[in-house]
Amino acid sequence: MGLLMGASAALPAQEKPVNPFISPFDFPLLLSGNFGELRANHFHGGVDFKTQGVVGKPIRCIADGYISRVTVTPGGYGQAVYITHTNGLTSVHGHLHKFMDEVQQAVEAYQYKHETFAVDLTFEPDLFPLKQGEVFALAGNEGYSFGPHLHMEIRRTDTGEYIDPLQFYTDQVKDNTAPRASHIMLYPQAGKGVVNGSQRKKIFSLVGGQPITAWGQISAGIKAYDYMDGTSNNYGVRSVKLYVDSVEVFSSTVDGFLPNENRMINAWTDYEEYATRNSWFMRSRILPGNTWRMLQADEEGGVFTINEERPYECRYVLEDLYGNRRSYRFVIKGKKQPVKPVKQGKRYLEWNRGHIVQQPGMELVIPKGMLYEDVDLNCQVRVDSAGISYDYQLHDRPVPLHAGCELTIGVRKYPVADRTKYYVARKYNGRKASAGGRFEDGYMHTTIRELGTYTVAVDTVAPKVVPLNRPQWKTGNIQFTIRDAETGIKDYKVYIDGQFALFKFSSKNARLSSMHPSRIKRGMKHTMEVVITDYCGNVTKEEYQF
Ligand SMILES: [Zn+2]
Repeated sequence: MGLLMGASAALPAQEKPVNPFISPFDFPLLLSGNFGELRANHFHGGVDFKTQGVVGKPIRCIADGYISRVTVTPGGYGQAVYITHTNGLTSVHGHLHKFMDEVQQAVEAYQYKHETFAVDLTFEPDLFPLKQGEVFALAGNEGYSFGPHLHMEIRRTDTGEYIDPLQFYTDQVKDNTAPRASHIMLYPQAGKGVVNGSQRKKIFSLVGGQPITAWGQISAGIKAYDYMDGTSNNYGVRSVKLYVDSVEVFSSTVDGFLPNENRMINAWTDYEEYATRNSWFMRSRILPGNTWRMLQADEEGGVFTINEERPYECRYVLEDLYGNRRSYRFVIKGKKQPVKPVKQGKRYLEWNRGHIVQQPGMELVIPKGMLYEDVDLNCQVRVDSAGISYDYQLHDRPVPLHAGCELTIGVRKYPVADRTKYYVARKYNGRKASAGGRFEDGYMHTTIRELGTYTVAVDTVAPKVVPLNRPQWKTGNIQFTIRDAETGIKDYKVYIDGQFALFKFSSKNARLSSMHPSRIKRGMKHTMEVVITDYCGNVTKEEYQF
């Protein structure tokens, strides 16, 4: 119960603190996702409550407060409600099917007035006050959601810190199942360590028992998931500890992070493994630029030294919020083996400084605080005489940047006169993806958050609109798929008989669908205009009669 005390400074200091929150549902709670699960560029900031496989379950307000914000987006949370509670915490509820009537009316009034589906509204405390237990929305499957559930976050209202909502529901969610690991990774320090004769990182199965020999400075990482009773889902592991010869060299506890610590996931996990193999390893090492408070290690940051010819007894201990615990032992045999020093290249980027990387026709500005560790940059320029610009390999492996860094690339050829059609493209695995950008004085300017290969490309292809379910259109139930091949869909508008019609766009399935079929009069002919615009300003206009 100590967790409850820690979670809110507003709670009175008493022997048995009262849980400030009730369940959002009147049925037993089951999780499909837990706090801190590893996701692309972020930790999962809340819990996902299953809703018995259906949309439309009423959601009760978990504590007194007021609706402070409502958002509607084509991806992400879809439809979300933020409730500021009187206890110093704010709850966020995502993927909602419907808001309570007064809120639904306010949202729709805004959508029609501003002719927009996307909404981000904030409200004063006296507009939508809520009592604990009041129903304020129905749970759904909107936004980037692939099955009905409620995504619920608890944040500290003053700092925005995300904390683990499950700590308030441990007596309602059963869990006797400990986390399980499958692999470890060993990382020789560049020029200072070696594992099984190699100075590259090396993966080991925890069941195989392949012998490990090492010499010099190394660190470790582990691939593991948590599991819970009564579900087949896997979850993030709350606590990881690494011991070498019974001495703790590293520990992590995923129980809170500030918004600006969210991207530190890329410094804690093995980013290259994730980016190239979609495989998550939690590193037992604090990279020098990682300032996330939930990691602990000695001054070596989790790096340990093998300098005696003897077995080193290593042990990982994984634990969940309920104290379910599992240990994994492995032995590293100390064995003298040659360690080749590494020669630093001429573009060696130190993590604790700012850098300007220049090549003919290219400049990348990396301010201090963007790198998590030193990078021995392998920068290459590839000249393609037909190319709009050169191809710039900024590094030969994916490296995360903590925030957007300014990249400028010179345009060498203008196959299209209209300068708004140019964009910066990231090239990888034979594909290219838009990195946005704007043209100015012969150069494209954009910001990037990962080192990779970048070039300039042209998008003159307008979005594609494909009508669906046409026989049903006369009932007001109208759907399309809309897609854009290169830079993506920036905006869409639908007009029926010259009037704005509210259509929902769902980015997960590229589906555009009418929101209020009953507003479309039956028994008469309608003219509908659909206008779709991409990020390079290419416009598709289609007209339909029904
Ligand atoms: Zn979620």
